[in-house]
Amino acid sequence: MIRCQGLRYAYSDGPTLQFPDVQVPQGAVLLLSGPSGCGKSTWLALVAALMSPTAGQLWVAGEAVHALKKVASDAWRARAIGFLPQKLHLSAAMSVQQNLAMAQWASGVPTDSARIAQALQALGVAELAERLPSQLSGGQAQRVALARAVLLQPQVILADEPTASLDDEAAADAVGLLLATAKAQAATLVIATHDARVAGLIPAQIDGRKGFQPLQLLRHQL
Ligand code: ADP
Ligand code: MG
Repeated sequence: MIRCQGLRYAYSDGPTLQFPDVQVPQGAVLLLSGPSGCGKSTWLALVAALMSPTAGQLWVAGEAVHALKKVASDAWRARAIGFLPQKLHLSAAMSVQQNLAMAQWASGVPTDSARIAQALQALGVAELAERLPSQLSGGQAQRVALARAVLLQPQVILADEPTASLDDEAAADAVGLLLATAKAQAATLVIATHDARVAGLIPAQIDGRKGFQPLQLLRHQL
């Protein structure tokens, strides 16, 4: 679940962004849309507690994120948030398996090869475990990054522009994969995108509920 009220973020050397209030039930899908520069990535960073809001209140996965201190927010993020960033940041010198093991290490949990294998399996890339990122296609790399994001079975999955530079078929795959992964974990899913195709790739109904909740950001005013 995600809930925010009066959320605002002022970049010290940039714009002040004001976000609409929103309430997303656990397990629902939020489609965060709007033109480039309107604040989508900023909103994701606030939800992931990568930055603290300048004003307002934000609850994510049961936590009052606006009140989290830095150290606590790192530990909380590792467990509660699965982030699929726009740039995947797979470590080039490590195999797929090692990239995921490093993610576990960075989250402060013991290496669990069985869980890594299971996450790769669920995303259809189990056979790529020994490859280097340079030996993966774009779609495969995205699957690996998503497997890494959900290793600790987070309650919230955040995807930043997951269809950027993908053709129609690959874009449909990427969105389908996110929906299936979130559903398997009963996670709340946020897809932030300026790609108009994405809305059409989410079914109108999921489990008898409206397929997604829209949150449209407008270009900010300085
Ligand atoms: P979107 O993801 O919707 O394209 P962003 O959240 O990346 O938008 O950016 C929102 C606005 O904040 C833009 O005007 C951008 O230039 C500005 N911005 C983003 N990051 C920074 C930063 N680190 N410092 C200053 N301004 C920034
Ligand atoms: Mg962005």
